[in-house]
Amino acid sequence: MKSIKIILKSYSTVFRAAKGSAVLSFVTYVLAGILPFIIAALTNDLLNAASEYLSGTGNRWMIYELAIKFLAAYLISYSLLTVQSVIENYGIYEKTLHVMKRMIGEKTARLALIDFENTDCYDLSKRAKNCVSSDAMPRLFLYSMRIGANVVSVISVSLLLISYSYGFIPFIILSIIPNLVSRIIRGNEFYQLKTCQVKDQRMADYLWNLFSNSTAQKEMRSMGSCEYVTDKWKRLNFMVNRQLWAFYKQDSKSLFLCELFNIAGYVSSIVFCFISVMRGNLEIGVLGACVITVKNVQDSIVDMIYFAGEVPKYIKFANDFFGFMSLKEEEKGTVPFDGFKSIEADRVSFSYPNSNRSAIKDVSFKIRKGETVVIVGENGSGKTTLAKLIQGLYHTGNGTVKYDGIDVDDLDKYELYRHIAVVPQNFGHYKLTLRENVAISDTDNIYNEKRIVECLERVDAEFAKNDLDEQIGREFDGREYSGGQWQRIALARSIFKDADMVILDEPTSALDPVAEAEILKNFLEISHEKTAIIISHRVGLCKYADQILLMKDGSIAESGRFEELVEKKGGFYDLYKAQAKWYQ
Ligand code: ADP
Repeated sequence: MKSIKIILKSYSTVFRAAKGSAVLSFVTYVLAGILPFIIAALTNDLLNAASEYLSGTGNRWMIYELAIKFLAAYLISYSLLTVQSVIENYGIYEKTLHVMKRMIGEKTARLALIDFENTDCYDLSKRAKNCVSSDAMPRLFLYSMRIGANVVSVISVSLLLISYSYGFIPFIILSIIPNLVSRIIRGNEFYQLKTCQVKDQRMADYLWNLFSNSTAQKEMRSMGSCEYVTDKWKRLNFMVNRQLWAFYKQDSKSLFLCELFNIAGYVSSIVFCFISVMRGNLEIGVLGACVITVKNVQDSIVDMIYFAGEVPKYIKFANDFFGFMSLKEEEKGTVPFDGFKSIEADRVSFSYPNSNRSAIKDVSFKIRKGETVVIVGENGSGKTTLAKLIQGLYHTGNGTVKYDGIDVDDLDKYELYRHIAVVPQNFGHYKLTLRENVAISDTDNIYNEKRIVECLERVDAEFAKNDLDEQIGREFDGREYSGGQWQRIALARSIFKDADMVILDEPTSALDPVAEAEILKNFLEISHEKTAIIISHRVGLCKYADQILLMKDGSIAESGRFEELVEKKGGFYDLYKAQAKWYQ
């Protein structure tokens, strides 16, 4: 039942994406379904008319008319293949896949960002993309129509033969039933096998993809784990193939048996027909119709069974796609936002999905417009999570983050984000041009070269004088940058946006501590009117901060100005002492 629903939903997606092609395709399959019946009936009529004409009672024009109809039916039947291939490739596949990609992109943009921290959701999104790469939706549509056309053709031609003589019934049963029963049983077994194999097959595909993933390759080589992964892939692949091989071996036996029944059915129906014609019980035309159609019916059954066997795996893919599309979307705030005077966090707590540990515990603080706040603390202490809560990217579990007294969840996020420039830890390394890499934060000014160069100079980027339109990225025959150079580009990008508030999450961790302190000091000088939240596990910049928040195990352990915290001789002082040698 669920499978039928998925097939129907696939139909609706294909119809929405490629209405014209889908309707045309439907018409061609209806024709493909009824043409064998028409050809069989015309063969019968044509041969009978010819026989009557030869015996002197017939009409020559009648033969011409039937011959033209017969030829036309054949011609249509052959041209259908070409028409179908054009409609399918350029109409159904291309358009449906394009629309599916767009749907995934739009849906992803509407999901709450916290969903990306949820591995189940992340997995589902990857599987939805697999649905596109495997052409599952158009295939489901086309295969099911093809099966439908075969069913129509088998039933209509069988009924036609029976209308000529009930004597055909045993021969039809002989050539259809064993084939059908065996194929249904084998098809069902194949479906079960494929269903069981889906997980292993996916894992094998995943491992296979690791071989072409450069990051994974580098890591696996340096850890010496290539052989382990290769072995794991080989074992899985071998197991999947061995199961398939066992199935095909068993299948070929039943196929052989079916072939014997097929031949017996075909030959005996012709012999029956021939004898009936000789005895005058059947007209000669029926013999012609029988010779053409019985084989046709048998071929249709083989075709139908093959495609029915393919359908289950595409149902699985389509199910993933619809599962992804039905994920809950982010609720959007509507309160207009046009800058702020203060941000206040009041007893904020937060846990990640699938985690029973609080990443942020009962945190309160106030940031005034124009302040520079440095959040320091060890790895895993909650700095990045806190920055995301400030931006309203995640909903707080308990407590609130308010901009001028308004809950961040209620604010119109698009307006809020226009006022914030963020350099996250894993910022984008866009394989575009240098110009695009800087100006992607404010594309309206992408041709303002002067400003782009200024921003690059402000972060001491020695390549500020490079050709701005030079392509970056080896995979596009472009220049490569080092980790530190990429970080300078990301900083330049945040300056280029000209936002009220900048949030930098360990933006200079690839630089040495002195260069980091120097660049960030320059950065603060140029953005002195802006609110700046800088996350770092190094304390070099704290001297310039209006407020320091020291995070420990998700809580604020200490807060205040540099001198206050040094004087306090607590956790911050220990950290400062431990790192002081870096700056001497
Ligand atoms: P920091 O920025 O100080 O290194 P984070 O804010 O990244 O720390 O992490 C705080 C805590 O939340 C850590 O214990 C970390 O393991 C956990 N955490 C971070 N991201 C996730 C996630 N996506 N899912 C579950 N736990 C997470």
